[in-house]
Amino acid sequence: MKVRIGFFHKKSLIKVKFKGEYFISDKSGCPGKNLDNNKVYDIKLIESKPSEHEWYEKTDTVFDVGKLESHRDKYYLHEKSTRVIKVGSQIGKLNNFEYWLLEKTGDMEGKIYPSGDYKYKKLIKKDAQGKIFFNGVEFKNKINMIPANEDCSFVVEGVNVGIDFHWDHKEDLEYKGELEVIIDNSGSLTAVNIIDLEEYLSSVNSSEMRNDNNLEMLKAQTIAARSTVLATMGKHHYSDGFDLCSDDHCQCYQGISKISELSKKVTEDTKGEILIFDSGIVDARYSKICGGITERYSTCWEDMDFPYLASFYDNPVGSEVKNVMKDKEAEKFILDKNFDCFCNTFKNPLPKSLEFCRDLFRWKTVITASEIKENLKQKFGIDIGDITDLTAIARGYSGRIFKMELKGTESNTVISKELNIRRLLSKTHLPSSAFLITKSGTDFIFTGAGWGHGAGLCQIGAQVMGEKGYSYKVILKHYYRGAAVKNLSDYT
Ligand SMILES: [Zn+2]
Ligand SMILES: [Zn+2]
Repeated sequence: MKVRIGFFHKKSLIKVKFKGEYFISDKSGCPGKNLDNNKVYDIKLIESKPSEHEWYEKTDTVFDVGKLESHRDKYYLHEKSTRVIKVGSQIGKLNNFEYWLLEKTGDMEGKIYPSGDYKYKKLIKKDAQGKIFFNGVEFKNKINMIPANEDCSFVVEGVNVGIDFHWDHKEDLEYKGELEVIIDNSGSLTAVNIIDLEEYLSSVNSSEMRNDNNLEMLKAQTIAARSTVLATMGKHHYSDGFDLCSDDHCQCYQGISKISELSKKVTEDTKGEILIFDSGIVDARYSKICGGITERYSTCWEDMDFPYLASFYDNPVGSEVKNVMKDKEAEKFILDKNFDCFCNTFKNPLPKSLEFCRDLFRWKTVITASEIKENLKQKFGIDIGDITDLTAIARGYSGRIFKMELKGTESNTVISKELNIRRLLSKTHLPSSAFLITKSGTDFIFTGAGWGHGAGLCQIGAQVMGEKGYSYKVILKHYYRGAAVKNLSDYT
């Protein structure tokens, strides 16, 4: 099974070097065997027209056609300004299809978080078009470079790595499989790597795997990653011409340049294994430290929930959580450094490579009111004057805030969803949105718990579980309630 990864975006020139024999799929010329392996080739944009599109706001997500029909009588399908689209992919006998109910809205370009928005959708009315020049020949709209055998690879110069993060830089990266260059919606060039799912997984997992990590945890994490790839394929980038991007938005992917032997082994050991709930593929999210309680999907992403991403205590009993969304209970929980759970880094031993997580089970940080004002302007385009107060309006089951009110000297505003709140209150991201707020002069002090969104598998918790002797299947059952480990080969 192949996946399409968009890894280099909005370019007018892409520089690439080939290793081994590559064929060009277009019969108009330039056979692969004439490509010189020592030469850097230019793939150039000659002329183009961007796509024509309309913006929509997603008002609901529906998973089965039956339910969709019940919407028929509602206003959705009678109004000109509304539409329903089907997104997702067929994966053997499985699929991850869903239907979006959309309502027309104004131009949202540049107004939304560029790579993390689930609410506003761009629908293409007319595809982008253009001409690409490569090795003396002109190609229309796209060009495919196909390897003659498994040993072939290609190197792309100056790929942007770590977009939006402080380690943002450019690097020459090597990839296996096919290279496709397309005219993207902006009318520029985007490079897409078409690669085998298992090879892709061993690459995306490499950055997170160290030799001293527990093997059962690594297996559990690999199966979670494989499931998430299949569960989200064709949705995040429904109109972009590829399945997943290579940034943190989907999963960080840097080709074969950084594949580790350990990651290769773990991927092979769990080949094809995925999580299934009720005959559907599990969107198996994971994060670093849940903090003692796992979080629900709706706190972090859309306003919907999945039974397998429940909220429960991250301990051997694992009972469901009832009342930590209330401020008083949240305070008790967040201040409890001794909270008995698998991911308590103050109580449980960690391997050396995970030592950097040690201080993030419970943490404290300070930000000035003027920094928040600046972040609000720069990251969200909102100006409410000087910030005078912050209030948690709504918390999820793990105490994570998903609605926060900001009071300003000119007006007030509300920021929703845990990631937006974390982005607002730090230069990059606050560790999590499970925090208490205290004000001291013009400083805001946050006392918090955990690292990441907290939904699904807790990586540090799974590491500790593995060390305590739990198998990867038990670890997965703990974090994905009611899900079963199956093999993709059962569905082909
Ligand atoms: Zn993405
Ligand atoms: Zn945990």
